[in-house]
Amino acid sequence: MKENTMKKLQVLADAAKYDVSCSSSGVNRKNTGRIGSSSVSGICHTWSSDGRCVSLLKILLTNYCVFDCEYCVNRLSNDVERASFTPEEVAELTIEFYRRNYIEGLFLSSAVEKNPNHTMENIVKTLLILRNKYHFSGYIHVKAIPGADEILIRQAGELADRMSVNIELPTEDGLKLLAPQKSMKKLFLPMNQIKEGIDKSNYQLTKYRNAKKFVPAGQSTQMIVGATNESDLSMLNITDKLYKSFSLKRVYFSAYVPVNRGNNLPALNTAPPMLREHRLYQADWLLRFYKFEANELLDKENPNFDTNFDPKMIWALRNINEFPKEINNVSLQELLRIPGIGMVSARRIIKQRKVRKVTYEDLKKIGVFLKRARFFLTCSGKYYGEKNLEPEVIKEMLNPKARFEQLKLEI
Ligand code: SF4
Repeated sequence: MKENTMKKLQVLADAAKYDVSCSSSGVNRKNTGRIGSSSVSGICHTWSSDGRCVSLLKILLTNYCVFDCEYCVNRLSNDVERASFTPEEVAELTIEFYRRNYIEGLFLSSAVEKNPNHTMENIVKTLLILRNKYHFSGYIHVKAIPGADEILIRQAGELADRMSVNIELPTEDGLKLLAPQKSMKKLFLPMNQIKEGIDKSNYQLTKYRNAKKFVPAGQSTQMIVGATNESDLSMLNITDKLYKSFSLKRVYFSAYVPVNRGNNLPALNTAPPMLREHRLYQADWLLRFYKFEANELLDKENPNFDTNFDPKMIWALRNINEFPKEINNVSLQELLRIPGIGMVSARRIIKQRKVRKVTYEDLKKIGVFLKRARFFLTCSGKYYGEKNLEPEVIKEMLNPKARFEQLKLEI
């Protein structure tokens, strides 16, 4: 590899590490005389539309940016090392890495160089070179740049497997504060264009077998957690809206890592809110697979998740009057709302009920986490929780440390 390309790769792979809208491995391991080594940036993993895990070359096309989002390391006002790849260079690099078996696909993001159309044109050119010149049919995930012409978004959608528009902050106020050149309207526009393209292609595929596929692995986005003081409720409301309005495949959350000083930003020594990010992922799971609504998990009186307990447990404790549930009578959806019962164990319970009644002993074998579930269920009318169903008592039994921490805060 040419020295100049290697240098660009270092700069632009490092600049891409804050984008988690494709799943990333984030491993950093030196070669210590064994076979192979890995780097914290540059290669990440994701899942293709058919469920395979693929490794991707993860880079920015450029980190020159005309925008000045306060939270971003690549913002216009930062004095950082800058570089830009040409579309041909990205395509060559991808093919070279693919031939050496380093990667199976490409995740190509970009800052906004000159203007949105110029940047999006270069992304489309890269896709055209890879698909038409090199006949590369591996997985490609690209960014849709808000503000770019619809025709460019459409061209990219016909060539890429997945696209994403990063929303970054959950409210208009948050954008005004930290990214005033962006707005919800500008961010939603390309998301809607991608959704319409996907819907149209899905419809045509039901009629014509050879109809063109459009973004077959769907679209995703990312939101930063903790850059502003917006609540988990705001984050979850917009997440719910994005799934419902734009049929997003995934919303990724990224705990804010302070890289810049700024009057509106958390201090540079603020630790990334990893536990909060984890709770948001748990809630996102409940929205996508357990049919919870955002307003069931949080409301104005409780706008943030309790970091001591997972969102499903907190929901159950707040709705304690709905419990205990008789394990042998309730529906799959009701089973899924019992803390300690997941999708696999709920399905096993339903399967076993067809043969005979499920006993408390069975639940252990089925994989139910009884330490949590026993407060919320009965088996053939028998209740196995040791105490009464007072939420505070249950909390104390599940996590005695949580109360101690609460007391410390109150003193
Ligand atoms: S547009 Fe993107 S790359 Fe540019 S400053 Fe904003 S977040 Fe950073």
